[in-house]
Amino acid sequence: MSNTEKYDVIVAGAGAAGLNAALFLPRDKKILLVCKGGVKQADSYLAQGGICTLRWDGDKDAWFEDTMRAGHYENDPETVNCMIGGARETIADLMLAGVRFARDGAGNLLYTREGGHSANRILYHADTTGKEIASRLFSRVRKLKNVHIRPYTSLVDILTDGKECAGGVLRDERTGEIACAYADYVILATGGVGGLYASSTNFPQLTGDGVAICLKHGIAVRDLDYVQIHPTTLYTKRRGRRFLISESVRGEGGVLLDGAGRRFTDELKPRDVVTAAIRGQMQKEGSECVWLDMRTIPPEELRVHFPAIVKRCLEEGYDPFSRPVPVVPAQHYFMGGIGSDPEGRTEMPRLFAVGETCCNGVHGKNRLASNSLLESLLFARRAALRIGNTYAAVSEEAQKRAGQGFDERKYKDKKALAAEYAELVKAGMERSARERAKRAGKAGAEKPEDAGRAGAARSAAR
Ligand SMILES: Cc1cc2nc3c(=O)[nH]c(=O)nc-3n(C[C@H](O)[C@H](O)[C@H](O)COP(=O)(O)OP(=O)(O)OC[C@H]3O[C@@H](n4cnc5c(N)ncnc54)[C@H](O)[C@@H]3O)c2cc1C
Repeated sequence: MSNTEKYDVIVAGAGAAGLNAALFLPRDKKILLVCKGGVKQADSYLAQGGICTLRWDGDKDAWFEDTMRAGHYENDPETVNCMIGGARETIADLMLAGVRFARDGAGNLLYTREGGHSANRILYHADTTGKEIASRLFSRVRKLKNVHIRPYTSLVDILTDGKECAGGVLRDERTGEIACAYADYVILATGGVGGLYASSTNFPQLTGDGVAICLKHGIAVRDLDYVQIHPTTLYTKRRGRRFLISESVRGEGGVLLDGAGRRFTDELKPRDVVTAAIRGQMQKEGSECVWLDMRTIPPEELRVHFPAIVKRCLEEGYDPFSRPVPVVPAQHYFMGGIGSDPEGRTEMPRLFAVGETCCNGVHGKNRLASNSLLESLLFARRAALRIGNTYAAVSEEAQKRAGQGFDERKYKDKKALAAEYAELVKAGMERSARERAKRAGKAGAEKPEDAGRAGAARSAAR
């Protein structure tokens, strides 16, 4: 990594959003795609349940209503319509990229269902939909001559003169080397915030860096206190990332049981409702988990639809064919993020944000299951097309001004910078919750240190 570099576009993040942005950016532009960890260490590879689509025209209103209801009607209706309207095209793009979805013997696509959905409208690839999508997109991006992929490289800041973005500051995570990389546009696709939590389904390196960078530069963020807790992750005393048990397990008939083997909630309610019911039950019993019974799913369906989940349960010593498995809620998804419009534009010219790191209003207070892969892909494509259609190089003066503030010593101490950014995000979350509570006259936020409590055995702090 040389100390000063020049690209047309820098994309930070190689999950579904970053990869799709790279695919739809103009082919005559020099693009740098960086990711903090290895190329497969993105939550997109972990997605199990599937991806929503518009199965038939008549489902538009119901899908809209399900999304709004799950989001407590705090979603931006225009953005939700935009997502629903672009779903089929996104799925067609994926199929062209070679993504395979489950089909019946006659070749017809199969659709599953998750909590909060009033219809089966989710396409899936066994219980490894995210891996199927992200790895196919990655193979395509890897073939592009104009895209240079650089793993183990973090975006640690943007270059800006305070008015517009003119590039980024990069750190090689293996050597610690810092580089100043000029670019006409930067796309933040840095994913969620699970790495800030002791108990999360996310990769630990997802620590909301894009959000922290925006907070640092006073770029608008939204709803930072809206963090989704997934009701069912496999309970274990082992340390590390929580293993998710997809909601589609419940969609296909799995039921939640208390310690005495009795059902205590409607398993197909939106995630926040089911999480609250589980936490309430655990509190009542003084237990560390509740139980998910998959014996209600036909064994062949369980084997074929959920092979990875079955394998992991068996590895942990629980045979889902013969007894319920212990589950507990954990941090899962970030609805808040960098304020962006449906074309990924942030408040700062030349700076875009897509995927889980952004908040474009699709999810409102609570994300509807399987809307996020679609959202990440669709709005990343829109951002890339927007950049392509309106491309204009940054002026030499602005670039020079932005470069003047660059001082690599500010980024050398990795631990101190990580702590500073984590603090910025946590403070932002608390502020957002406080302001909301003030507006509503009541308390509200799920602070990072609270997630995963409620009796759950805490995984070791990362
Ligand atoms: C276990 C699990 C199951 C899920 N199941 C589903 C599902 O079935 N359906 C669904 O729709 N959604 C699901 N989701 C949510 C969905 O996977 C994510 O919301 C979506 O994949 C986010 O994509 P993304 O590209 O924004 O982020 P990610 O895929 O997480 O990618 C983030 C990228 O940013 C990089 N990065 C982070 N910080 C930096 C930095 N400072 N500099 C450079 N790079 C950086 C990371 O290295 C990574 O490459 C699931 C999530 C999890 C965790």
